Amino acid sequence: MRLGSDTPKQLLPIGHATILQRSVRAFDRHAAIDHVVVVLPGDLVADGQALVGDTARTCRFVAGGARRQDSVSRGMRALPADVDRVLVHDAARPFVDAAIIDRVVDGLATHAVVVPAVPVKDTVKRVDRQTAVVTATLSREDLWLAQTPQGFQAAALAAVMAQGESAADATDEAMLAERAGHAVGIVPGDPANVKITTADDLAAARARLVAMPRVGTGYDLHRLVDGRALVLAGVQIADDRGPLAHSDGDVLCHAMVDAILGAAGAGDIGRHFPNTDPRWKDAAGLNLLERAVAIAQDVGFDVVQVDATIVLERPKLAPHVEAMQAALRRVLGVGDREVSVKAKTNEGVDAVGRGEAIAAHAVAVLGPRRS
Ligand code: MG
Repeated sequence: MRLGSDTPKQLLPIGHATILQRSVRAFDRHAAIDHVVVVLPGDLVADGQALVGDTARTCRFVAGGARRQDSVSRGMRALPADVDRVLVHDAARPFVDAAIIDRVVDGLATHAVVVPAVPVKDTVKRVDRQTAVVTATLSREDLWLAQTPQGFQAAALAAVMAQGESAADATDEAMLAERAGHAVGIVPGDPANVKITTADDLAAARARLVAMPRVGTGYDLHRLVDGRALVLAGVQIADDRGPLAHSDGDVLCHAMVDAILGAAGAGDIGRHFPNTDPRWKDAAGLNLLERAVAIAQDVGFDVVQVDATIVLERPKLAPHVEAMQAALRRVLGVGDREVSVKAKTNEGVDAVGRGEAIAAHAVAVLGPRRS
């Protein structure tokens, strides 16, 4: 399933790791796990290790099949023959943790098939699909929501999968086990072990990782020289005296880039856009800012708000502030009240006050990525 982009949902980031990486990591780090098989769409198998990142165990990567049970069959066949228990996990549940894995493994001491599950909290109605009228209220005490990883004695899974290859689609392997007459045991799941299915699920998962907004600060200063243009947030202020710089010397954008990268925990402007790299010669500040926004998004954050102060002795910046704010709003993708630019002089004090330099300070607030 894809969530409004061309990227398969398992490859979308939640914070610093993708959904797939989080899922694989939980098993890779668990002491009871000996082998990890990752079943992927066929065109991604060759990139498997790069997609899951560093792992302690040697992962095997296998192309999935048309149906869920076909994918599980292929994954199972990639396991060594002496494996006695198999856990089947849906990679779209990135918040699986060691405690859930422990309970499923422990459950296999008494059951051939084990499913982690959580009790249903809401009242559940059976509804006639045609008339949209309730036909029954189900007894909540009898209803549980199944999660993964689902645990199997290897022999039971092999038998179930052999039947599943000819059976109709199953929504999980435990369903095939039930059909085959196995007693399927329940162990406590975890309400946090959610499946990421919709864009709302993804947004909620990201929000969970960012309980507090993230704040970063930035500062920049450039010497002013004759014969350079003075550009702030892409707005040209003067053309006869401006900052000496490898780039366009847009101190407002540079301070904001550092604030955003700092809030994202993603390094600084020098690391991403080194002034030794010819690519950034005369680079427009707004362009670097746009890239910083993308870097923050890559690690799971969107810009919520920025505030900045430019310190410059002359000329007066007040007539240009609204144009600067408008340009920043466009690049940052935020609203009117979320961008603030202020201008001050340094009252004739120090090098900035003598008109030898221009400086800017910025603060950025980031929240969880929204899309
Ligand atoms: Mg700079």
